[in-house]
Amino acid sequence: MTATQERTEAELAALAERAGRDLEDASPLEILTWAAGVFGERFCVTSSMEDAVVAHLAARAYPGVDVVFLDTGYHFPETIGTRDAVAEVMDVNVITLTPRRTVAEQDAEYGPKLHDRDPDRCCALRKVAPLEEGLAGYDAWATGLRRDESPTRAGTPVVGWDARRRKVKVSPIARWTQRDVDAYVAEHGVLTNPLLLDGYASVGCAPCTRRVSAGEDARAGRWAGSNKTECGLHG
Ligand code: SF4
Repeated sequence: MTATQERTEAELAALAERAGRDLEDASPLEILTWAAGVFGERFCVTSSMEDAVVAHLAARAYPGVDVVFLDTGYHFPETIGTRDAVAEVMDVNVITLTPRRTVAEQDAEYGPKLHDRDPDRCCALRKVAPLEEGLAGYDAWATGLRRDESPTRAGTPVVGWDARRRKVKVSPIARWTQRDVDAYVAEHGVLTNPLLLDGYASVGCAPCTRRVSAGEDARAGRWAGSNKTECGLHG
């Protein structure tokens, strides 16, 4: 890994806006190669371990790249198994972030099943805060967001300025469809979460994820029955 220059937030924001325009038509690998070249070790990939597509692409652009995984304490065993397999077989450095409180400590402080009563609070404690702390050492992070996943993600730029975290946010597969993802997985034998073969289209925490029916969008199984559509990581 190479050392990278220090940049001010204004410089990073300007970089992000320019790259978002210049790279709109670039391939995911080209976008990640740009990010690796510009940010070096101050760049990471975040993964929910629904699949390892972006981690796989990033490892091609930057072998040994940091892959950050948020272990909320509520994941399906299949998700933890996918994380362990990624760490074992891919040329990446998996970093697991955990919330400040265990589930038991959160239950003691806020009462059990906070996810049912106040999912925004639960996500803030178990996802948003740990990610913000975990990203402190990076200037740029990559996500697997895609425009076709839901209306709330339709405007996702391939590179943008994450004003909340004051970092460059890279979404290399923003323009891909599910068909593109499936083709990449098949071509490269990429690890995927076994739950994707069991009726789940989007995999999050177990209490807040259900299988989807034919015709539903991929994220309809997340926080089903509530108005919540995002965990706050991408707001
Ligand atoms: Fe809590 Fe559900 Fe958010 Fe996971 S997805 S942090 S269980 S509210």
